[in-house]
Amino acid sequence: MEPKKFELGDIVQMKKQHPCGTNEMEIIRMGMDIRIKCVGCKHSVLIPRAKFEKNMKKVLRSKETNEGEEG
Ligand SMILES: [Zn+2]
Repeated sequence: MEPKKFELGDIVQMKKQHPCGTNEMEIIRMGMDIRIKCVGCKHSVLIPRAKFEKNMKKVLRSKETNEGEEG
């Protein structure tokens, strides 16, 4: 199993879905803790890195390939 790799700006899929019904989150801040923003309702949460890695399923889109999106 390859290690999880994620970067700032990536859209990731979480194992548990957000109460609003989506499980896609955008990484908006990286550090000891990770801040992610729900793609559905734009709510952001700060969670410890270890917990994030455990709860994250996979990276859906990385920032470099994330083209043609509008605000
Ligand atoms: Zn949400």
